Amino acid sequence: MQFDAELLLLAMAPVFLACIGWEAWHLRRTRPGARLYSWPDTLCNAALALMQQAADKLAWLAIIPVYAFVHDHYRVHTWQASWVSFAVLFVAQDLLYYVFHRCSHRVRWLWAAHVVHHSSERMNFSTAFRQSLMYPIAGMWLFWIPLAVLGFAPTQIVAIVLINLGFQFFVHTQAIGKFGGKLRWLEYVFNTPSIHRVHHARNDRYIDRNYAGVLVIWDRLFGSYVEEDSHEAPVYGIVEPLHTYNPLKATFHEWASMAADFASVRGWRNKLRALFAPPAWAADYHARRVADPAPITLDTTMNERNTAAFQTTRRP
Ligand SMILES: [Zn+2]
Ligand SMILES: [Zn+2]
Repeated sequence: MQFDAELLLLAMAPVFLACIGWEAWHLRRTRPGARLYSWPDTLCNAALALMQQAADKLAWLAIIPVYAFVHDHYRVHTWQASWVSFAVLFVAQDLLYYVFHRCSHRVRWLWAAHVVHHSSERMNFSTAFRQSLMYPIAGMWLFWIPLAVLGFAPTQIVAIVLINLGFQFFVHTQAIGKFGGKLRWLEYVFNTPSIHRVHHARNDRYIDRNYAGVLVIWDRLFGSYVEEDSHEAPVYGIVEPLHTYNPLKATFHEWASMAADFASVRGWRNKLRALFAPPAWAADYHARRVADPAPITLDTTMNERNTAAFQTTRRP
């Protein structure tokens, strides 16, 4: 019987649940009163995981033929099964994950799906379950097409995407500190709980940093790495907090907000910004709409206007 790669994460569910059980027990002993787990939050996370798994199962039906077409017609190499080909696949996919993840924090269309992963104000193993069923609509699958061009078959692509995601479960915890001593090298090579806690934080110094999937070398290479500071605890969650444990609202709130902004803002350039600008554009727009609820025209972003004002004052 052939192992179905699409079910990899479901097959790992017993390991994930055992980790959650250990962490909840451990934290209750070591940090009584911190309440790092809550039933409504954990159940919402579990519901989001199941919704995403069901949607993914359906989405692969449409996406795998696309990968197969690209692989059959446009691949530049044919790999023999070996450790070398696995290593190339693993490193290439992890780099593409970094690109996808960074874009997901900088382009609102992708953020609308990815925000689900960040909207809890708790950080524990169950936070890893917070995924969006909208990823296929947002276009996450497009980021893996280069793997088909490199010569990897659709089942290999699906498997490596899920292995990467499976690894990431283990970095969602406050029960494991920064690695030190003989294990310090791990913090230079791999995404670790400390590195990923920073990624989930909304503090000014932490926000939009540490996009690593498995390897943190990409953050260090491309300038998005920030170390967890022992004097500044991460504050988890998103800039515009989501006050609900309803998994449907968690899934669709940003899409609804994006549609409303697209409809209300004037001018096509601004409508494109509502869809594709960094999420900070929306927070800025919402703040000004509270002050003036009538539809307004945003000619420039906040920073551009500040710069323009600064230049005007300097003009002789
Ligand atoms: Zn993220
Ligand atoms: Zn995460």
